[in-house]
Amino acid sequence: MQRLALSLALLLTCGAVSAEQIKPAVKAAAKPAAGATKKMAAKPAPKKGPPAKMLFGAVTAPAPLAARAIGSYARGCLAGGVSLPINGPDWQVMRLSRNRNWGTPQLLDYLERLASDARARDGWPGLLIGDMAQPRGGPMITGHSSHQIGLDADVWLTPMPDRILTPPEREDITATSMLKDPFTVDPAIWTPLHTKLIKRAASYPQVSRIFVHPAIKKVLCEQAGKDRAWLGKVRPWWGHFYHFHIRLKCPPDMTGCEDQKPPSGDDGCGTELANWFSMLRKAEIASAHPAVPGAKPAPKKPPLSLGDLPKECMTVLSAGGGMPTIAPDGTVPAALKAEAGKDAGPPAPHLDPEALAALKASMSKSKQGAKATPAAKPADTAAAAAPPAQPAAVTAAQPALTVGTASPSDSVPLPDRKPQ
Ligand SMILES: [Zn+2]
Repeated sequence: MQRLALSLALLLTCGAVSAEQIKPAVKAAAKPAAGATKKMAAKPAPKKGPPAKMLFGAVTAPAPLAARAIGSYARGCLAGGVSLPINGPDWQVMRLSRNRNWGTPQLLDYLERLASDARARDGWPGLLIGDMAQPRGGPMITGHSSHQIGLDADVWLTPMPDRILTPPEREDITATSMLKDPFTVDPAIWTPLHTKLIKRAASYPQVSRIFVHPAIKKVLCEQAGKDRAWLGKVRPWWGHFYHFHIRLKCPPDMTGCEDQKPPSGDDGCGTELANWFSMLRKAEIASAHPAVPGAKPAPKKPPLSLGDLPKECMTVLSAGGGMPTIAPDGTVPAALKAEAGKDAGPPAPHLDPEALAALKASMSKSKQGAKATPAAKPADTAAAAAPPAQPAAVTAAQPALTVGTASPSDSVPLPDRKPQ
């Protein structure tokens, strides 16, 4: 801990930090100009310093403490993390170089059970496991804002092949996109087994939420039949078109673990899903023309520092000599290699110029005259069995939404901001 405090003091006084990190430090020093260094020396607690993702991203072994998820999904850490074996009877871990196959014992139990049940009862050939948590949890250098406390896991929608993948294959294979276009699942790729897998994953009582792309949620809504209770846990979110994200509840009696409010209980197939499709359309237009009115780029938040996490995360980070070395320039050398890993999935699909033009035209048309029955949107006509009420609901919901920054009904910690 002393070592970190020293490094941080050095770091803040020498000022060799990135623009992103400078902002908060400048703010702190702005009040008493001369007193700033004194304040820093008297208060060694690392309020700011290297982003916490650098520190947690550099640690290669778990904290030798009792297993505990500390804090919340997008602001916390993991004590006593355990690693999922890279090969199991019904699963294989991908992207081994990332060293993100860590979690609470409860997460491991869950994944092993899901892999086994999905194979034995649904015929899913086995799970390809993507990112779980780092050995001590915490923020990650790439890919996620959550996955910090050992209760989140990404599972690829690509079925496990019938052989053991080599380590290079696990680095290089790209997960399969389920999308035909930005709004539609490809019926040639999506199978009833995919639906069964997600239903199975959501069915266990310890599951809080499952995140999938809105187009996948739409297919699930269409294919669920009468048994719909599980659908409420399956939440639309950006980027989840080649994997789904499992989030467990805080295990009972785990102090310091902050649960999320449970989903409303609604199946989420009505207005909420329509709102998501509205956001998808806006995002698609914004991605082609970032200057479109109403599609403001989200302001970049400074990365979390150690001081932003629960106090115990300092103990988690430093337990057993785990504190990584911080270079004089403020970087954490051991963390940098994590940035080189290959993305797990393909880039998100986009409309071709003609389809984009048609989408824009239909959106401005529906904005103007909401009273006439809205024409079917080009992007939606491709989707089989679109719910009949959707175009009207989408039109009505548009003004309240902001592209790409907020979930429409989940005022909760965000899972993933972008595909990993
Ligand atoms: Zn995820």
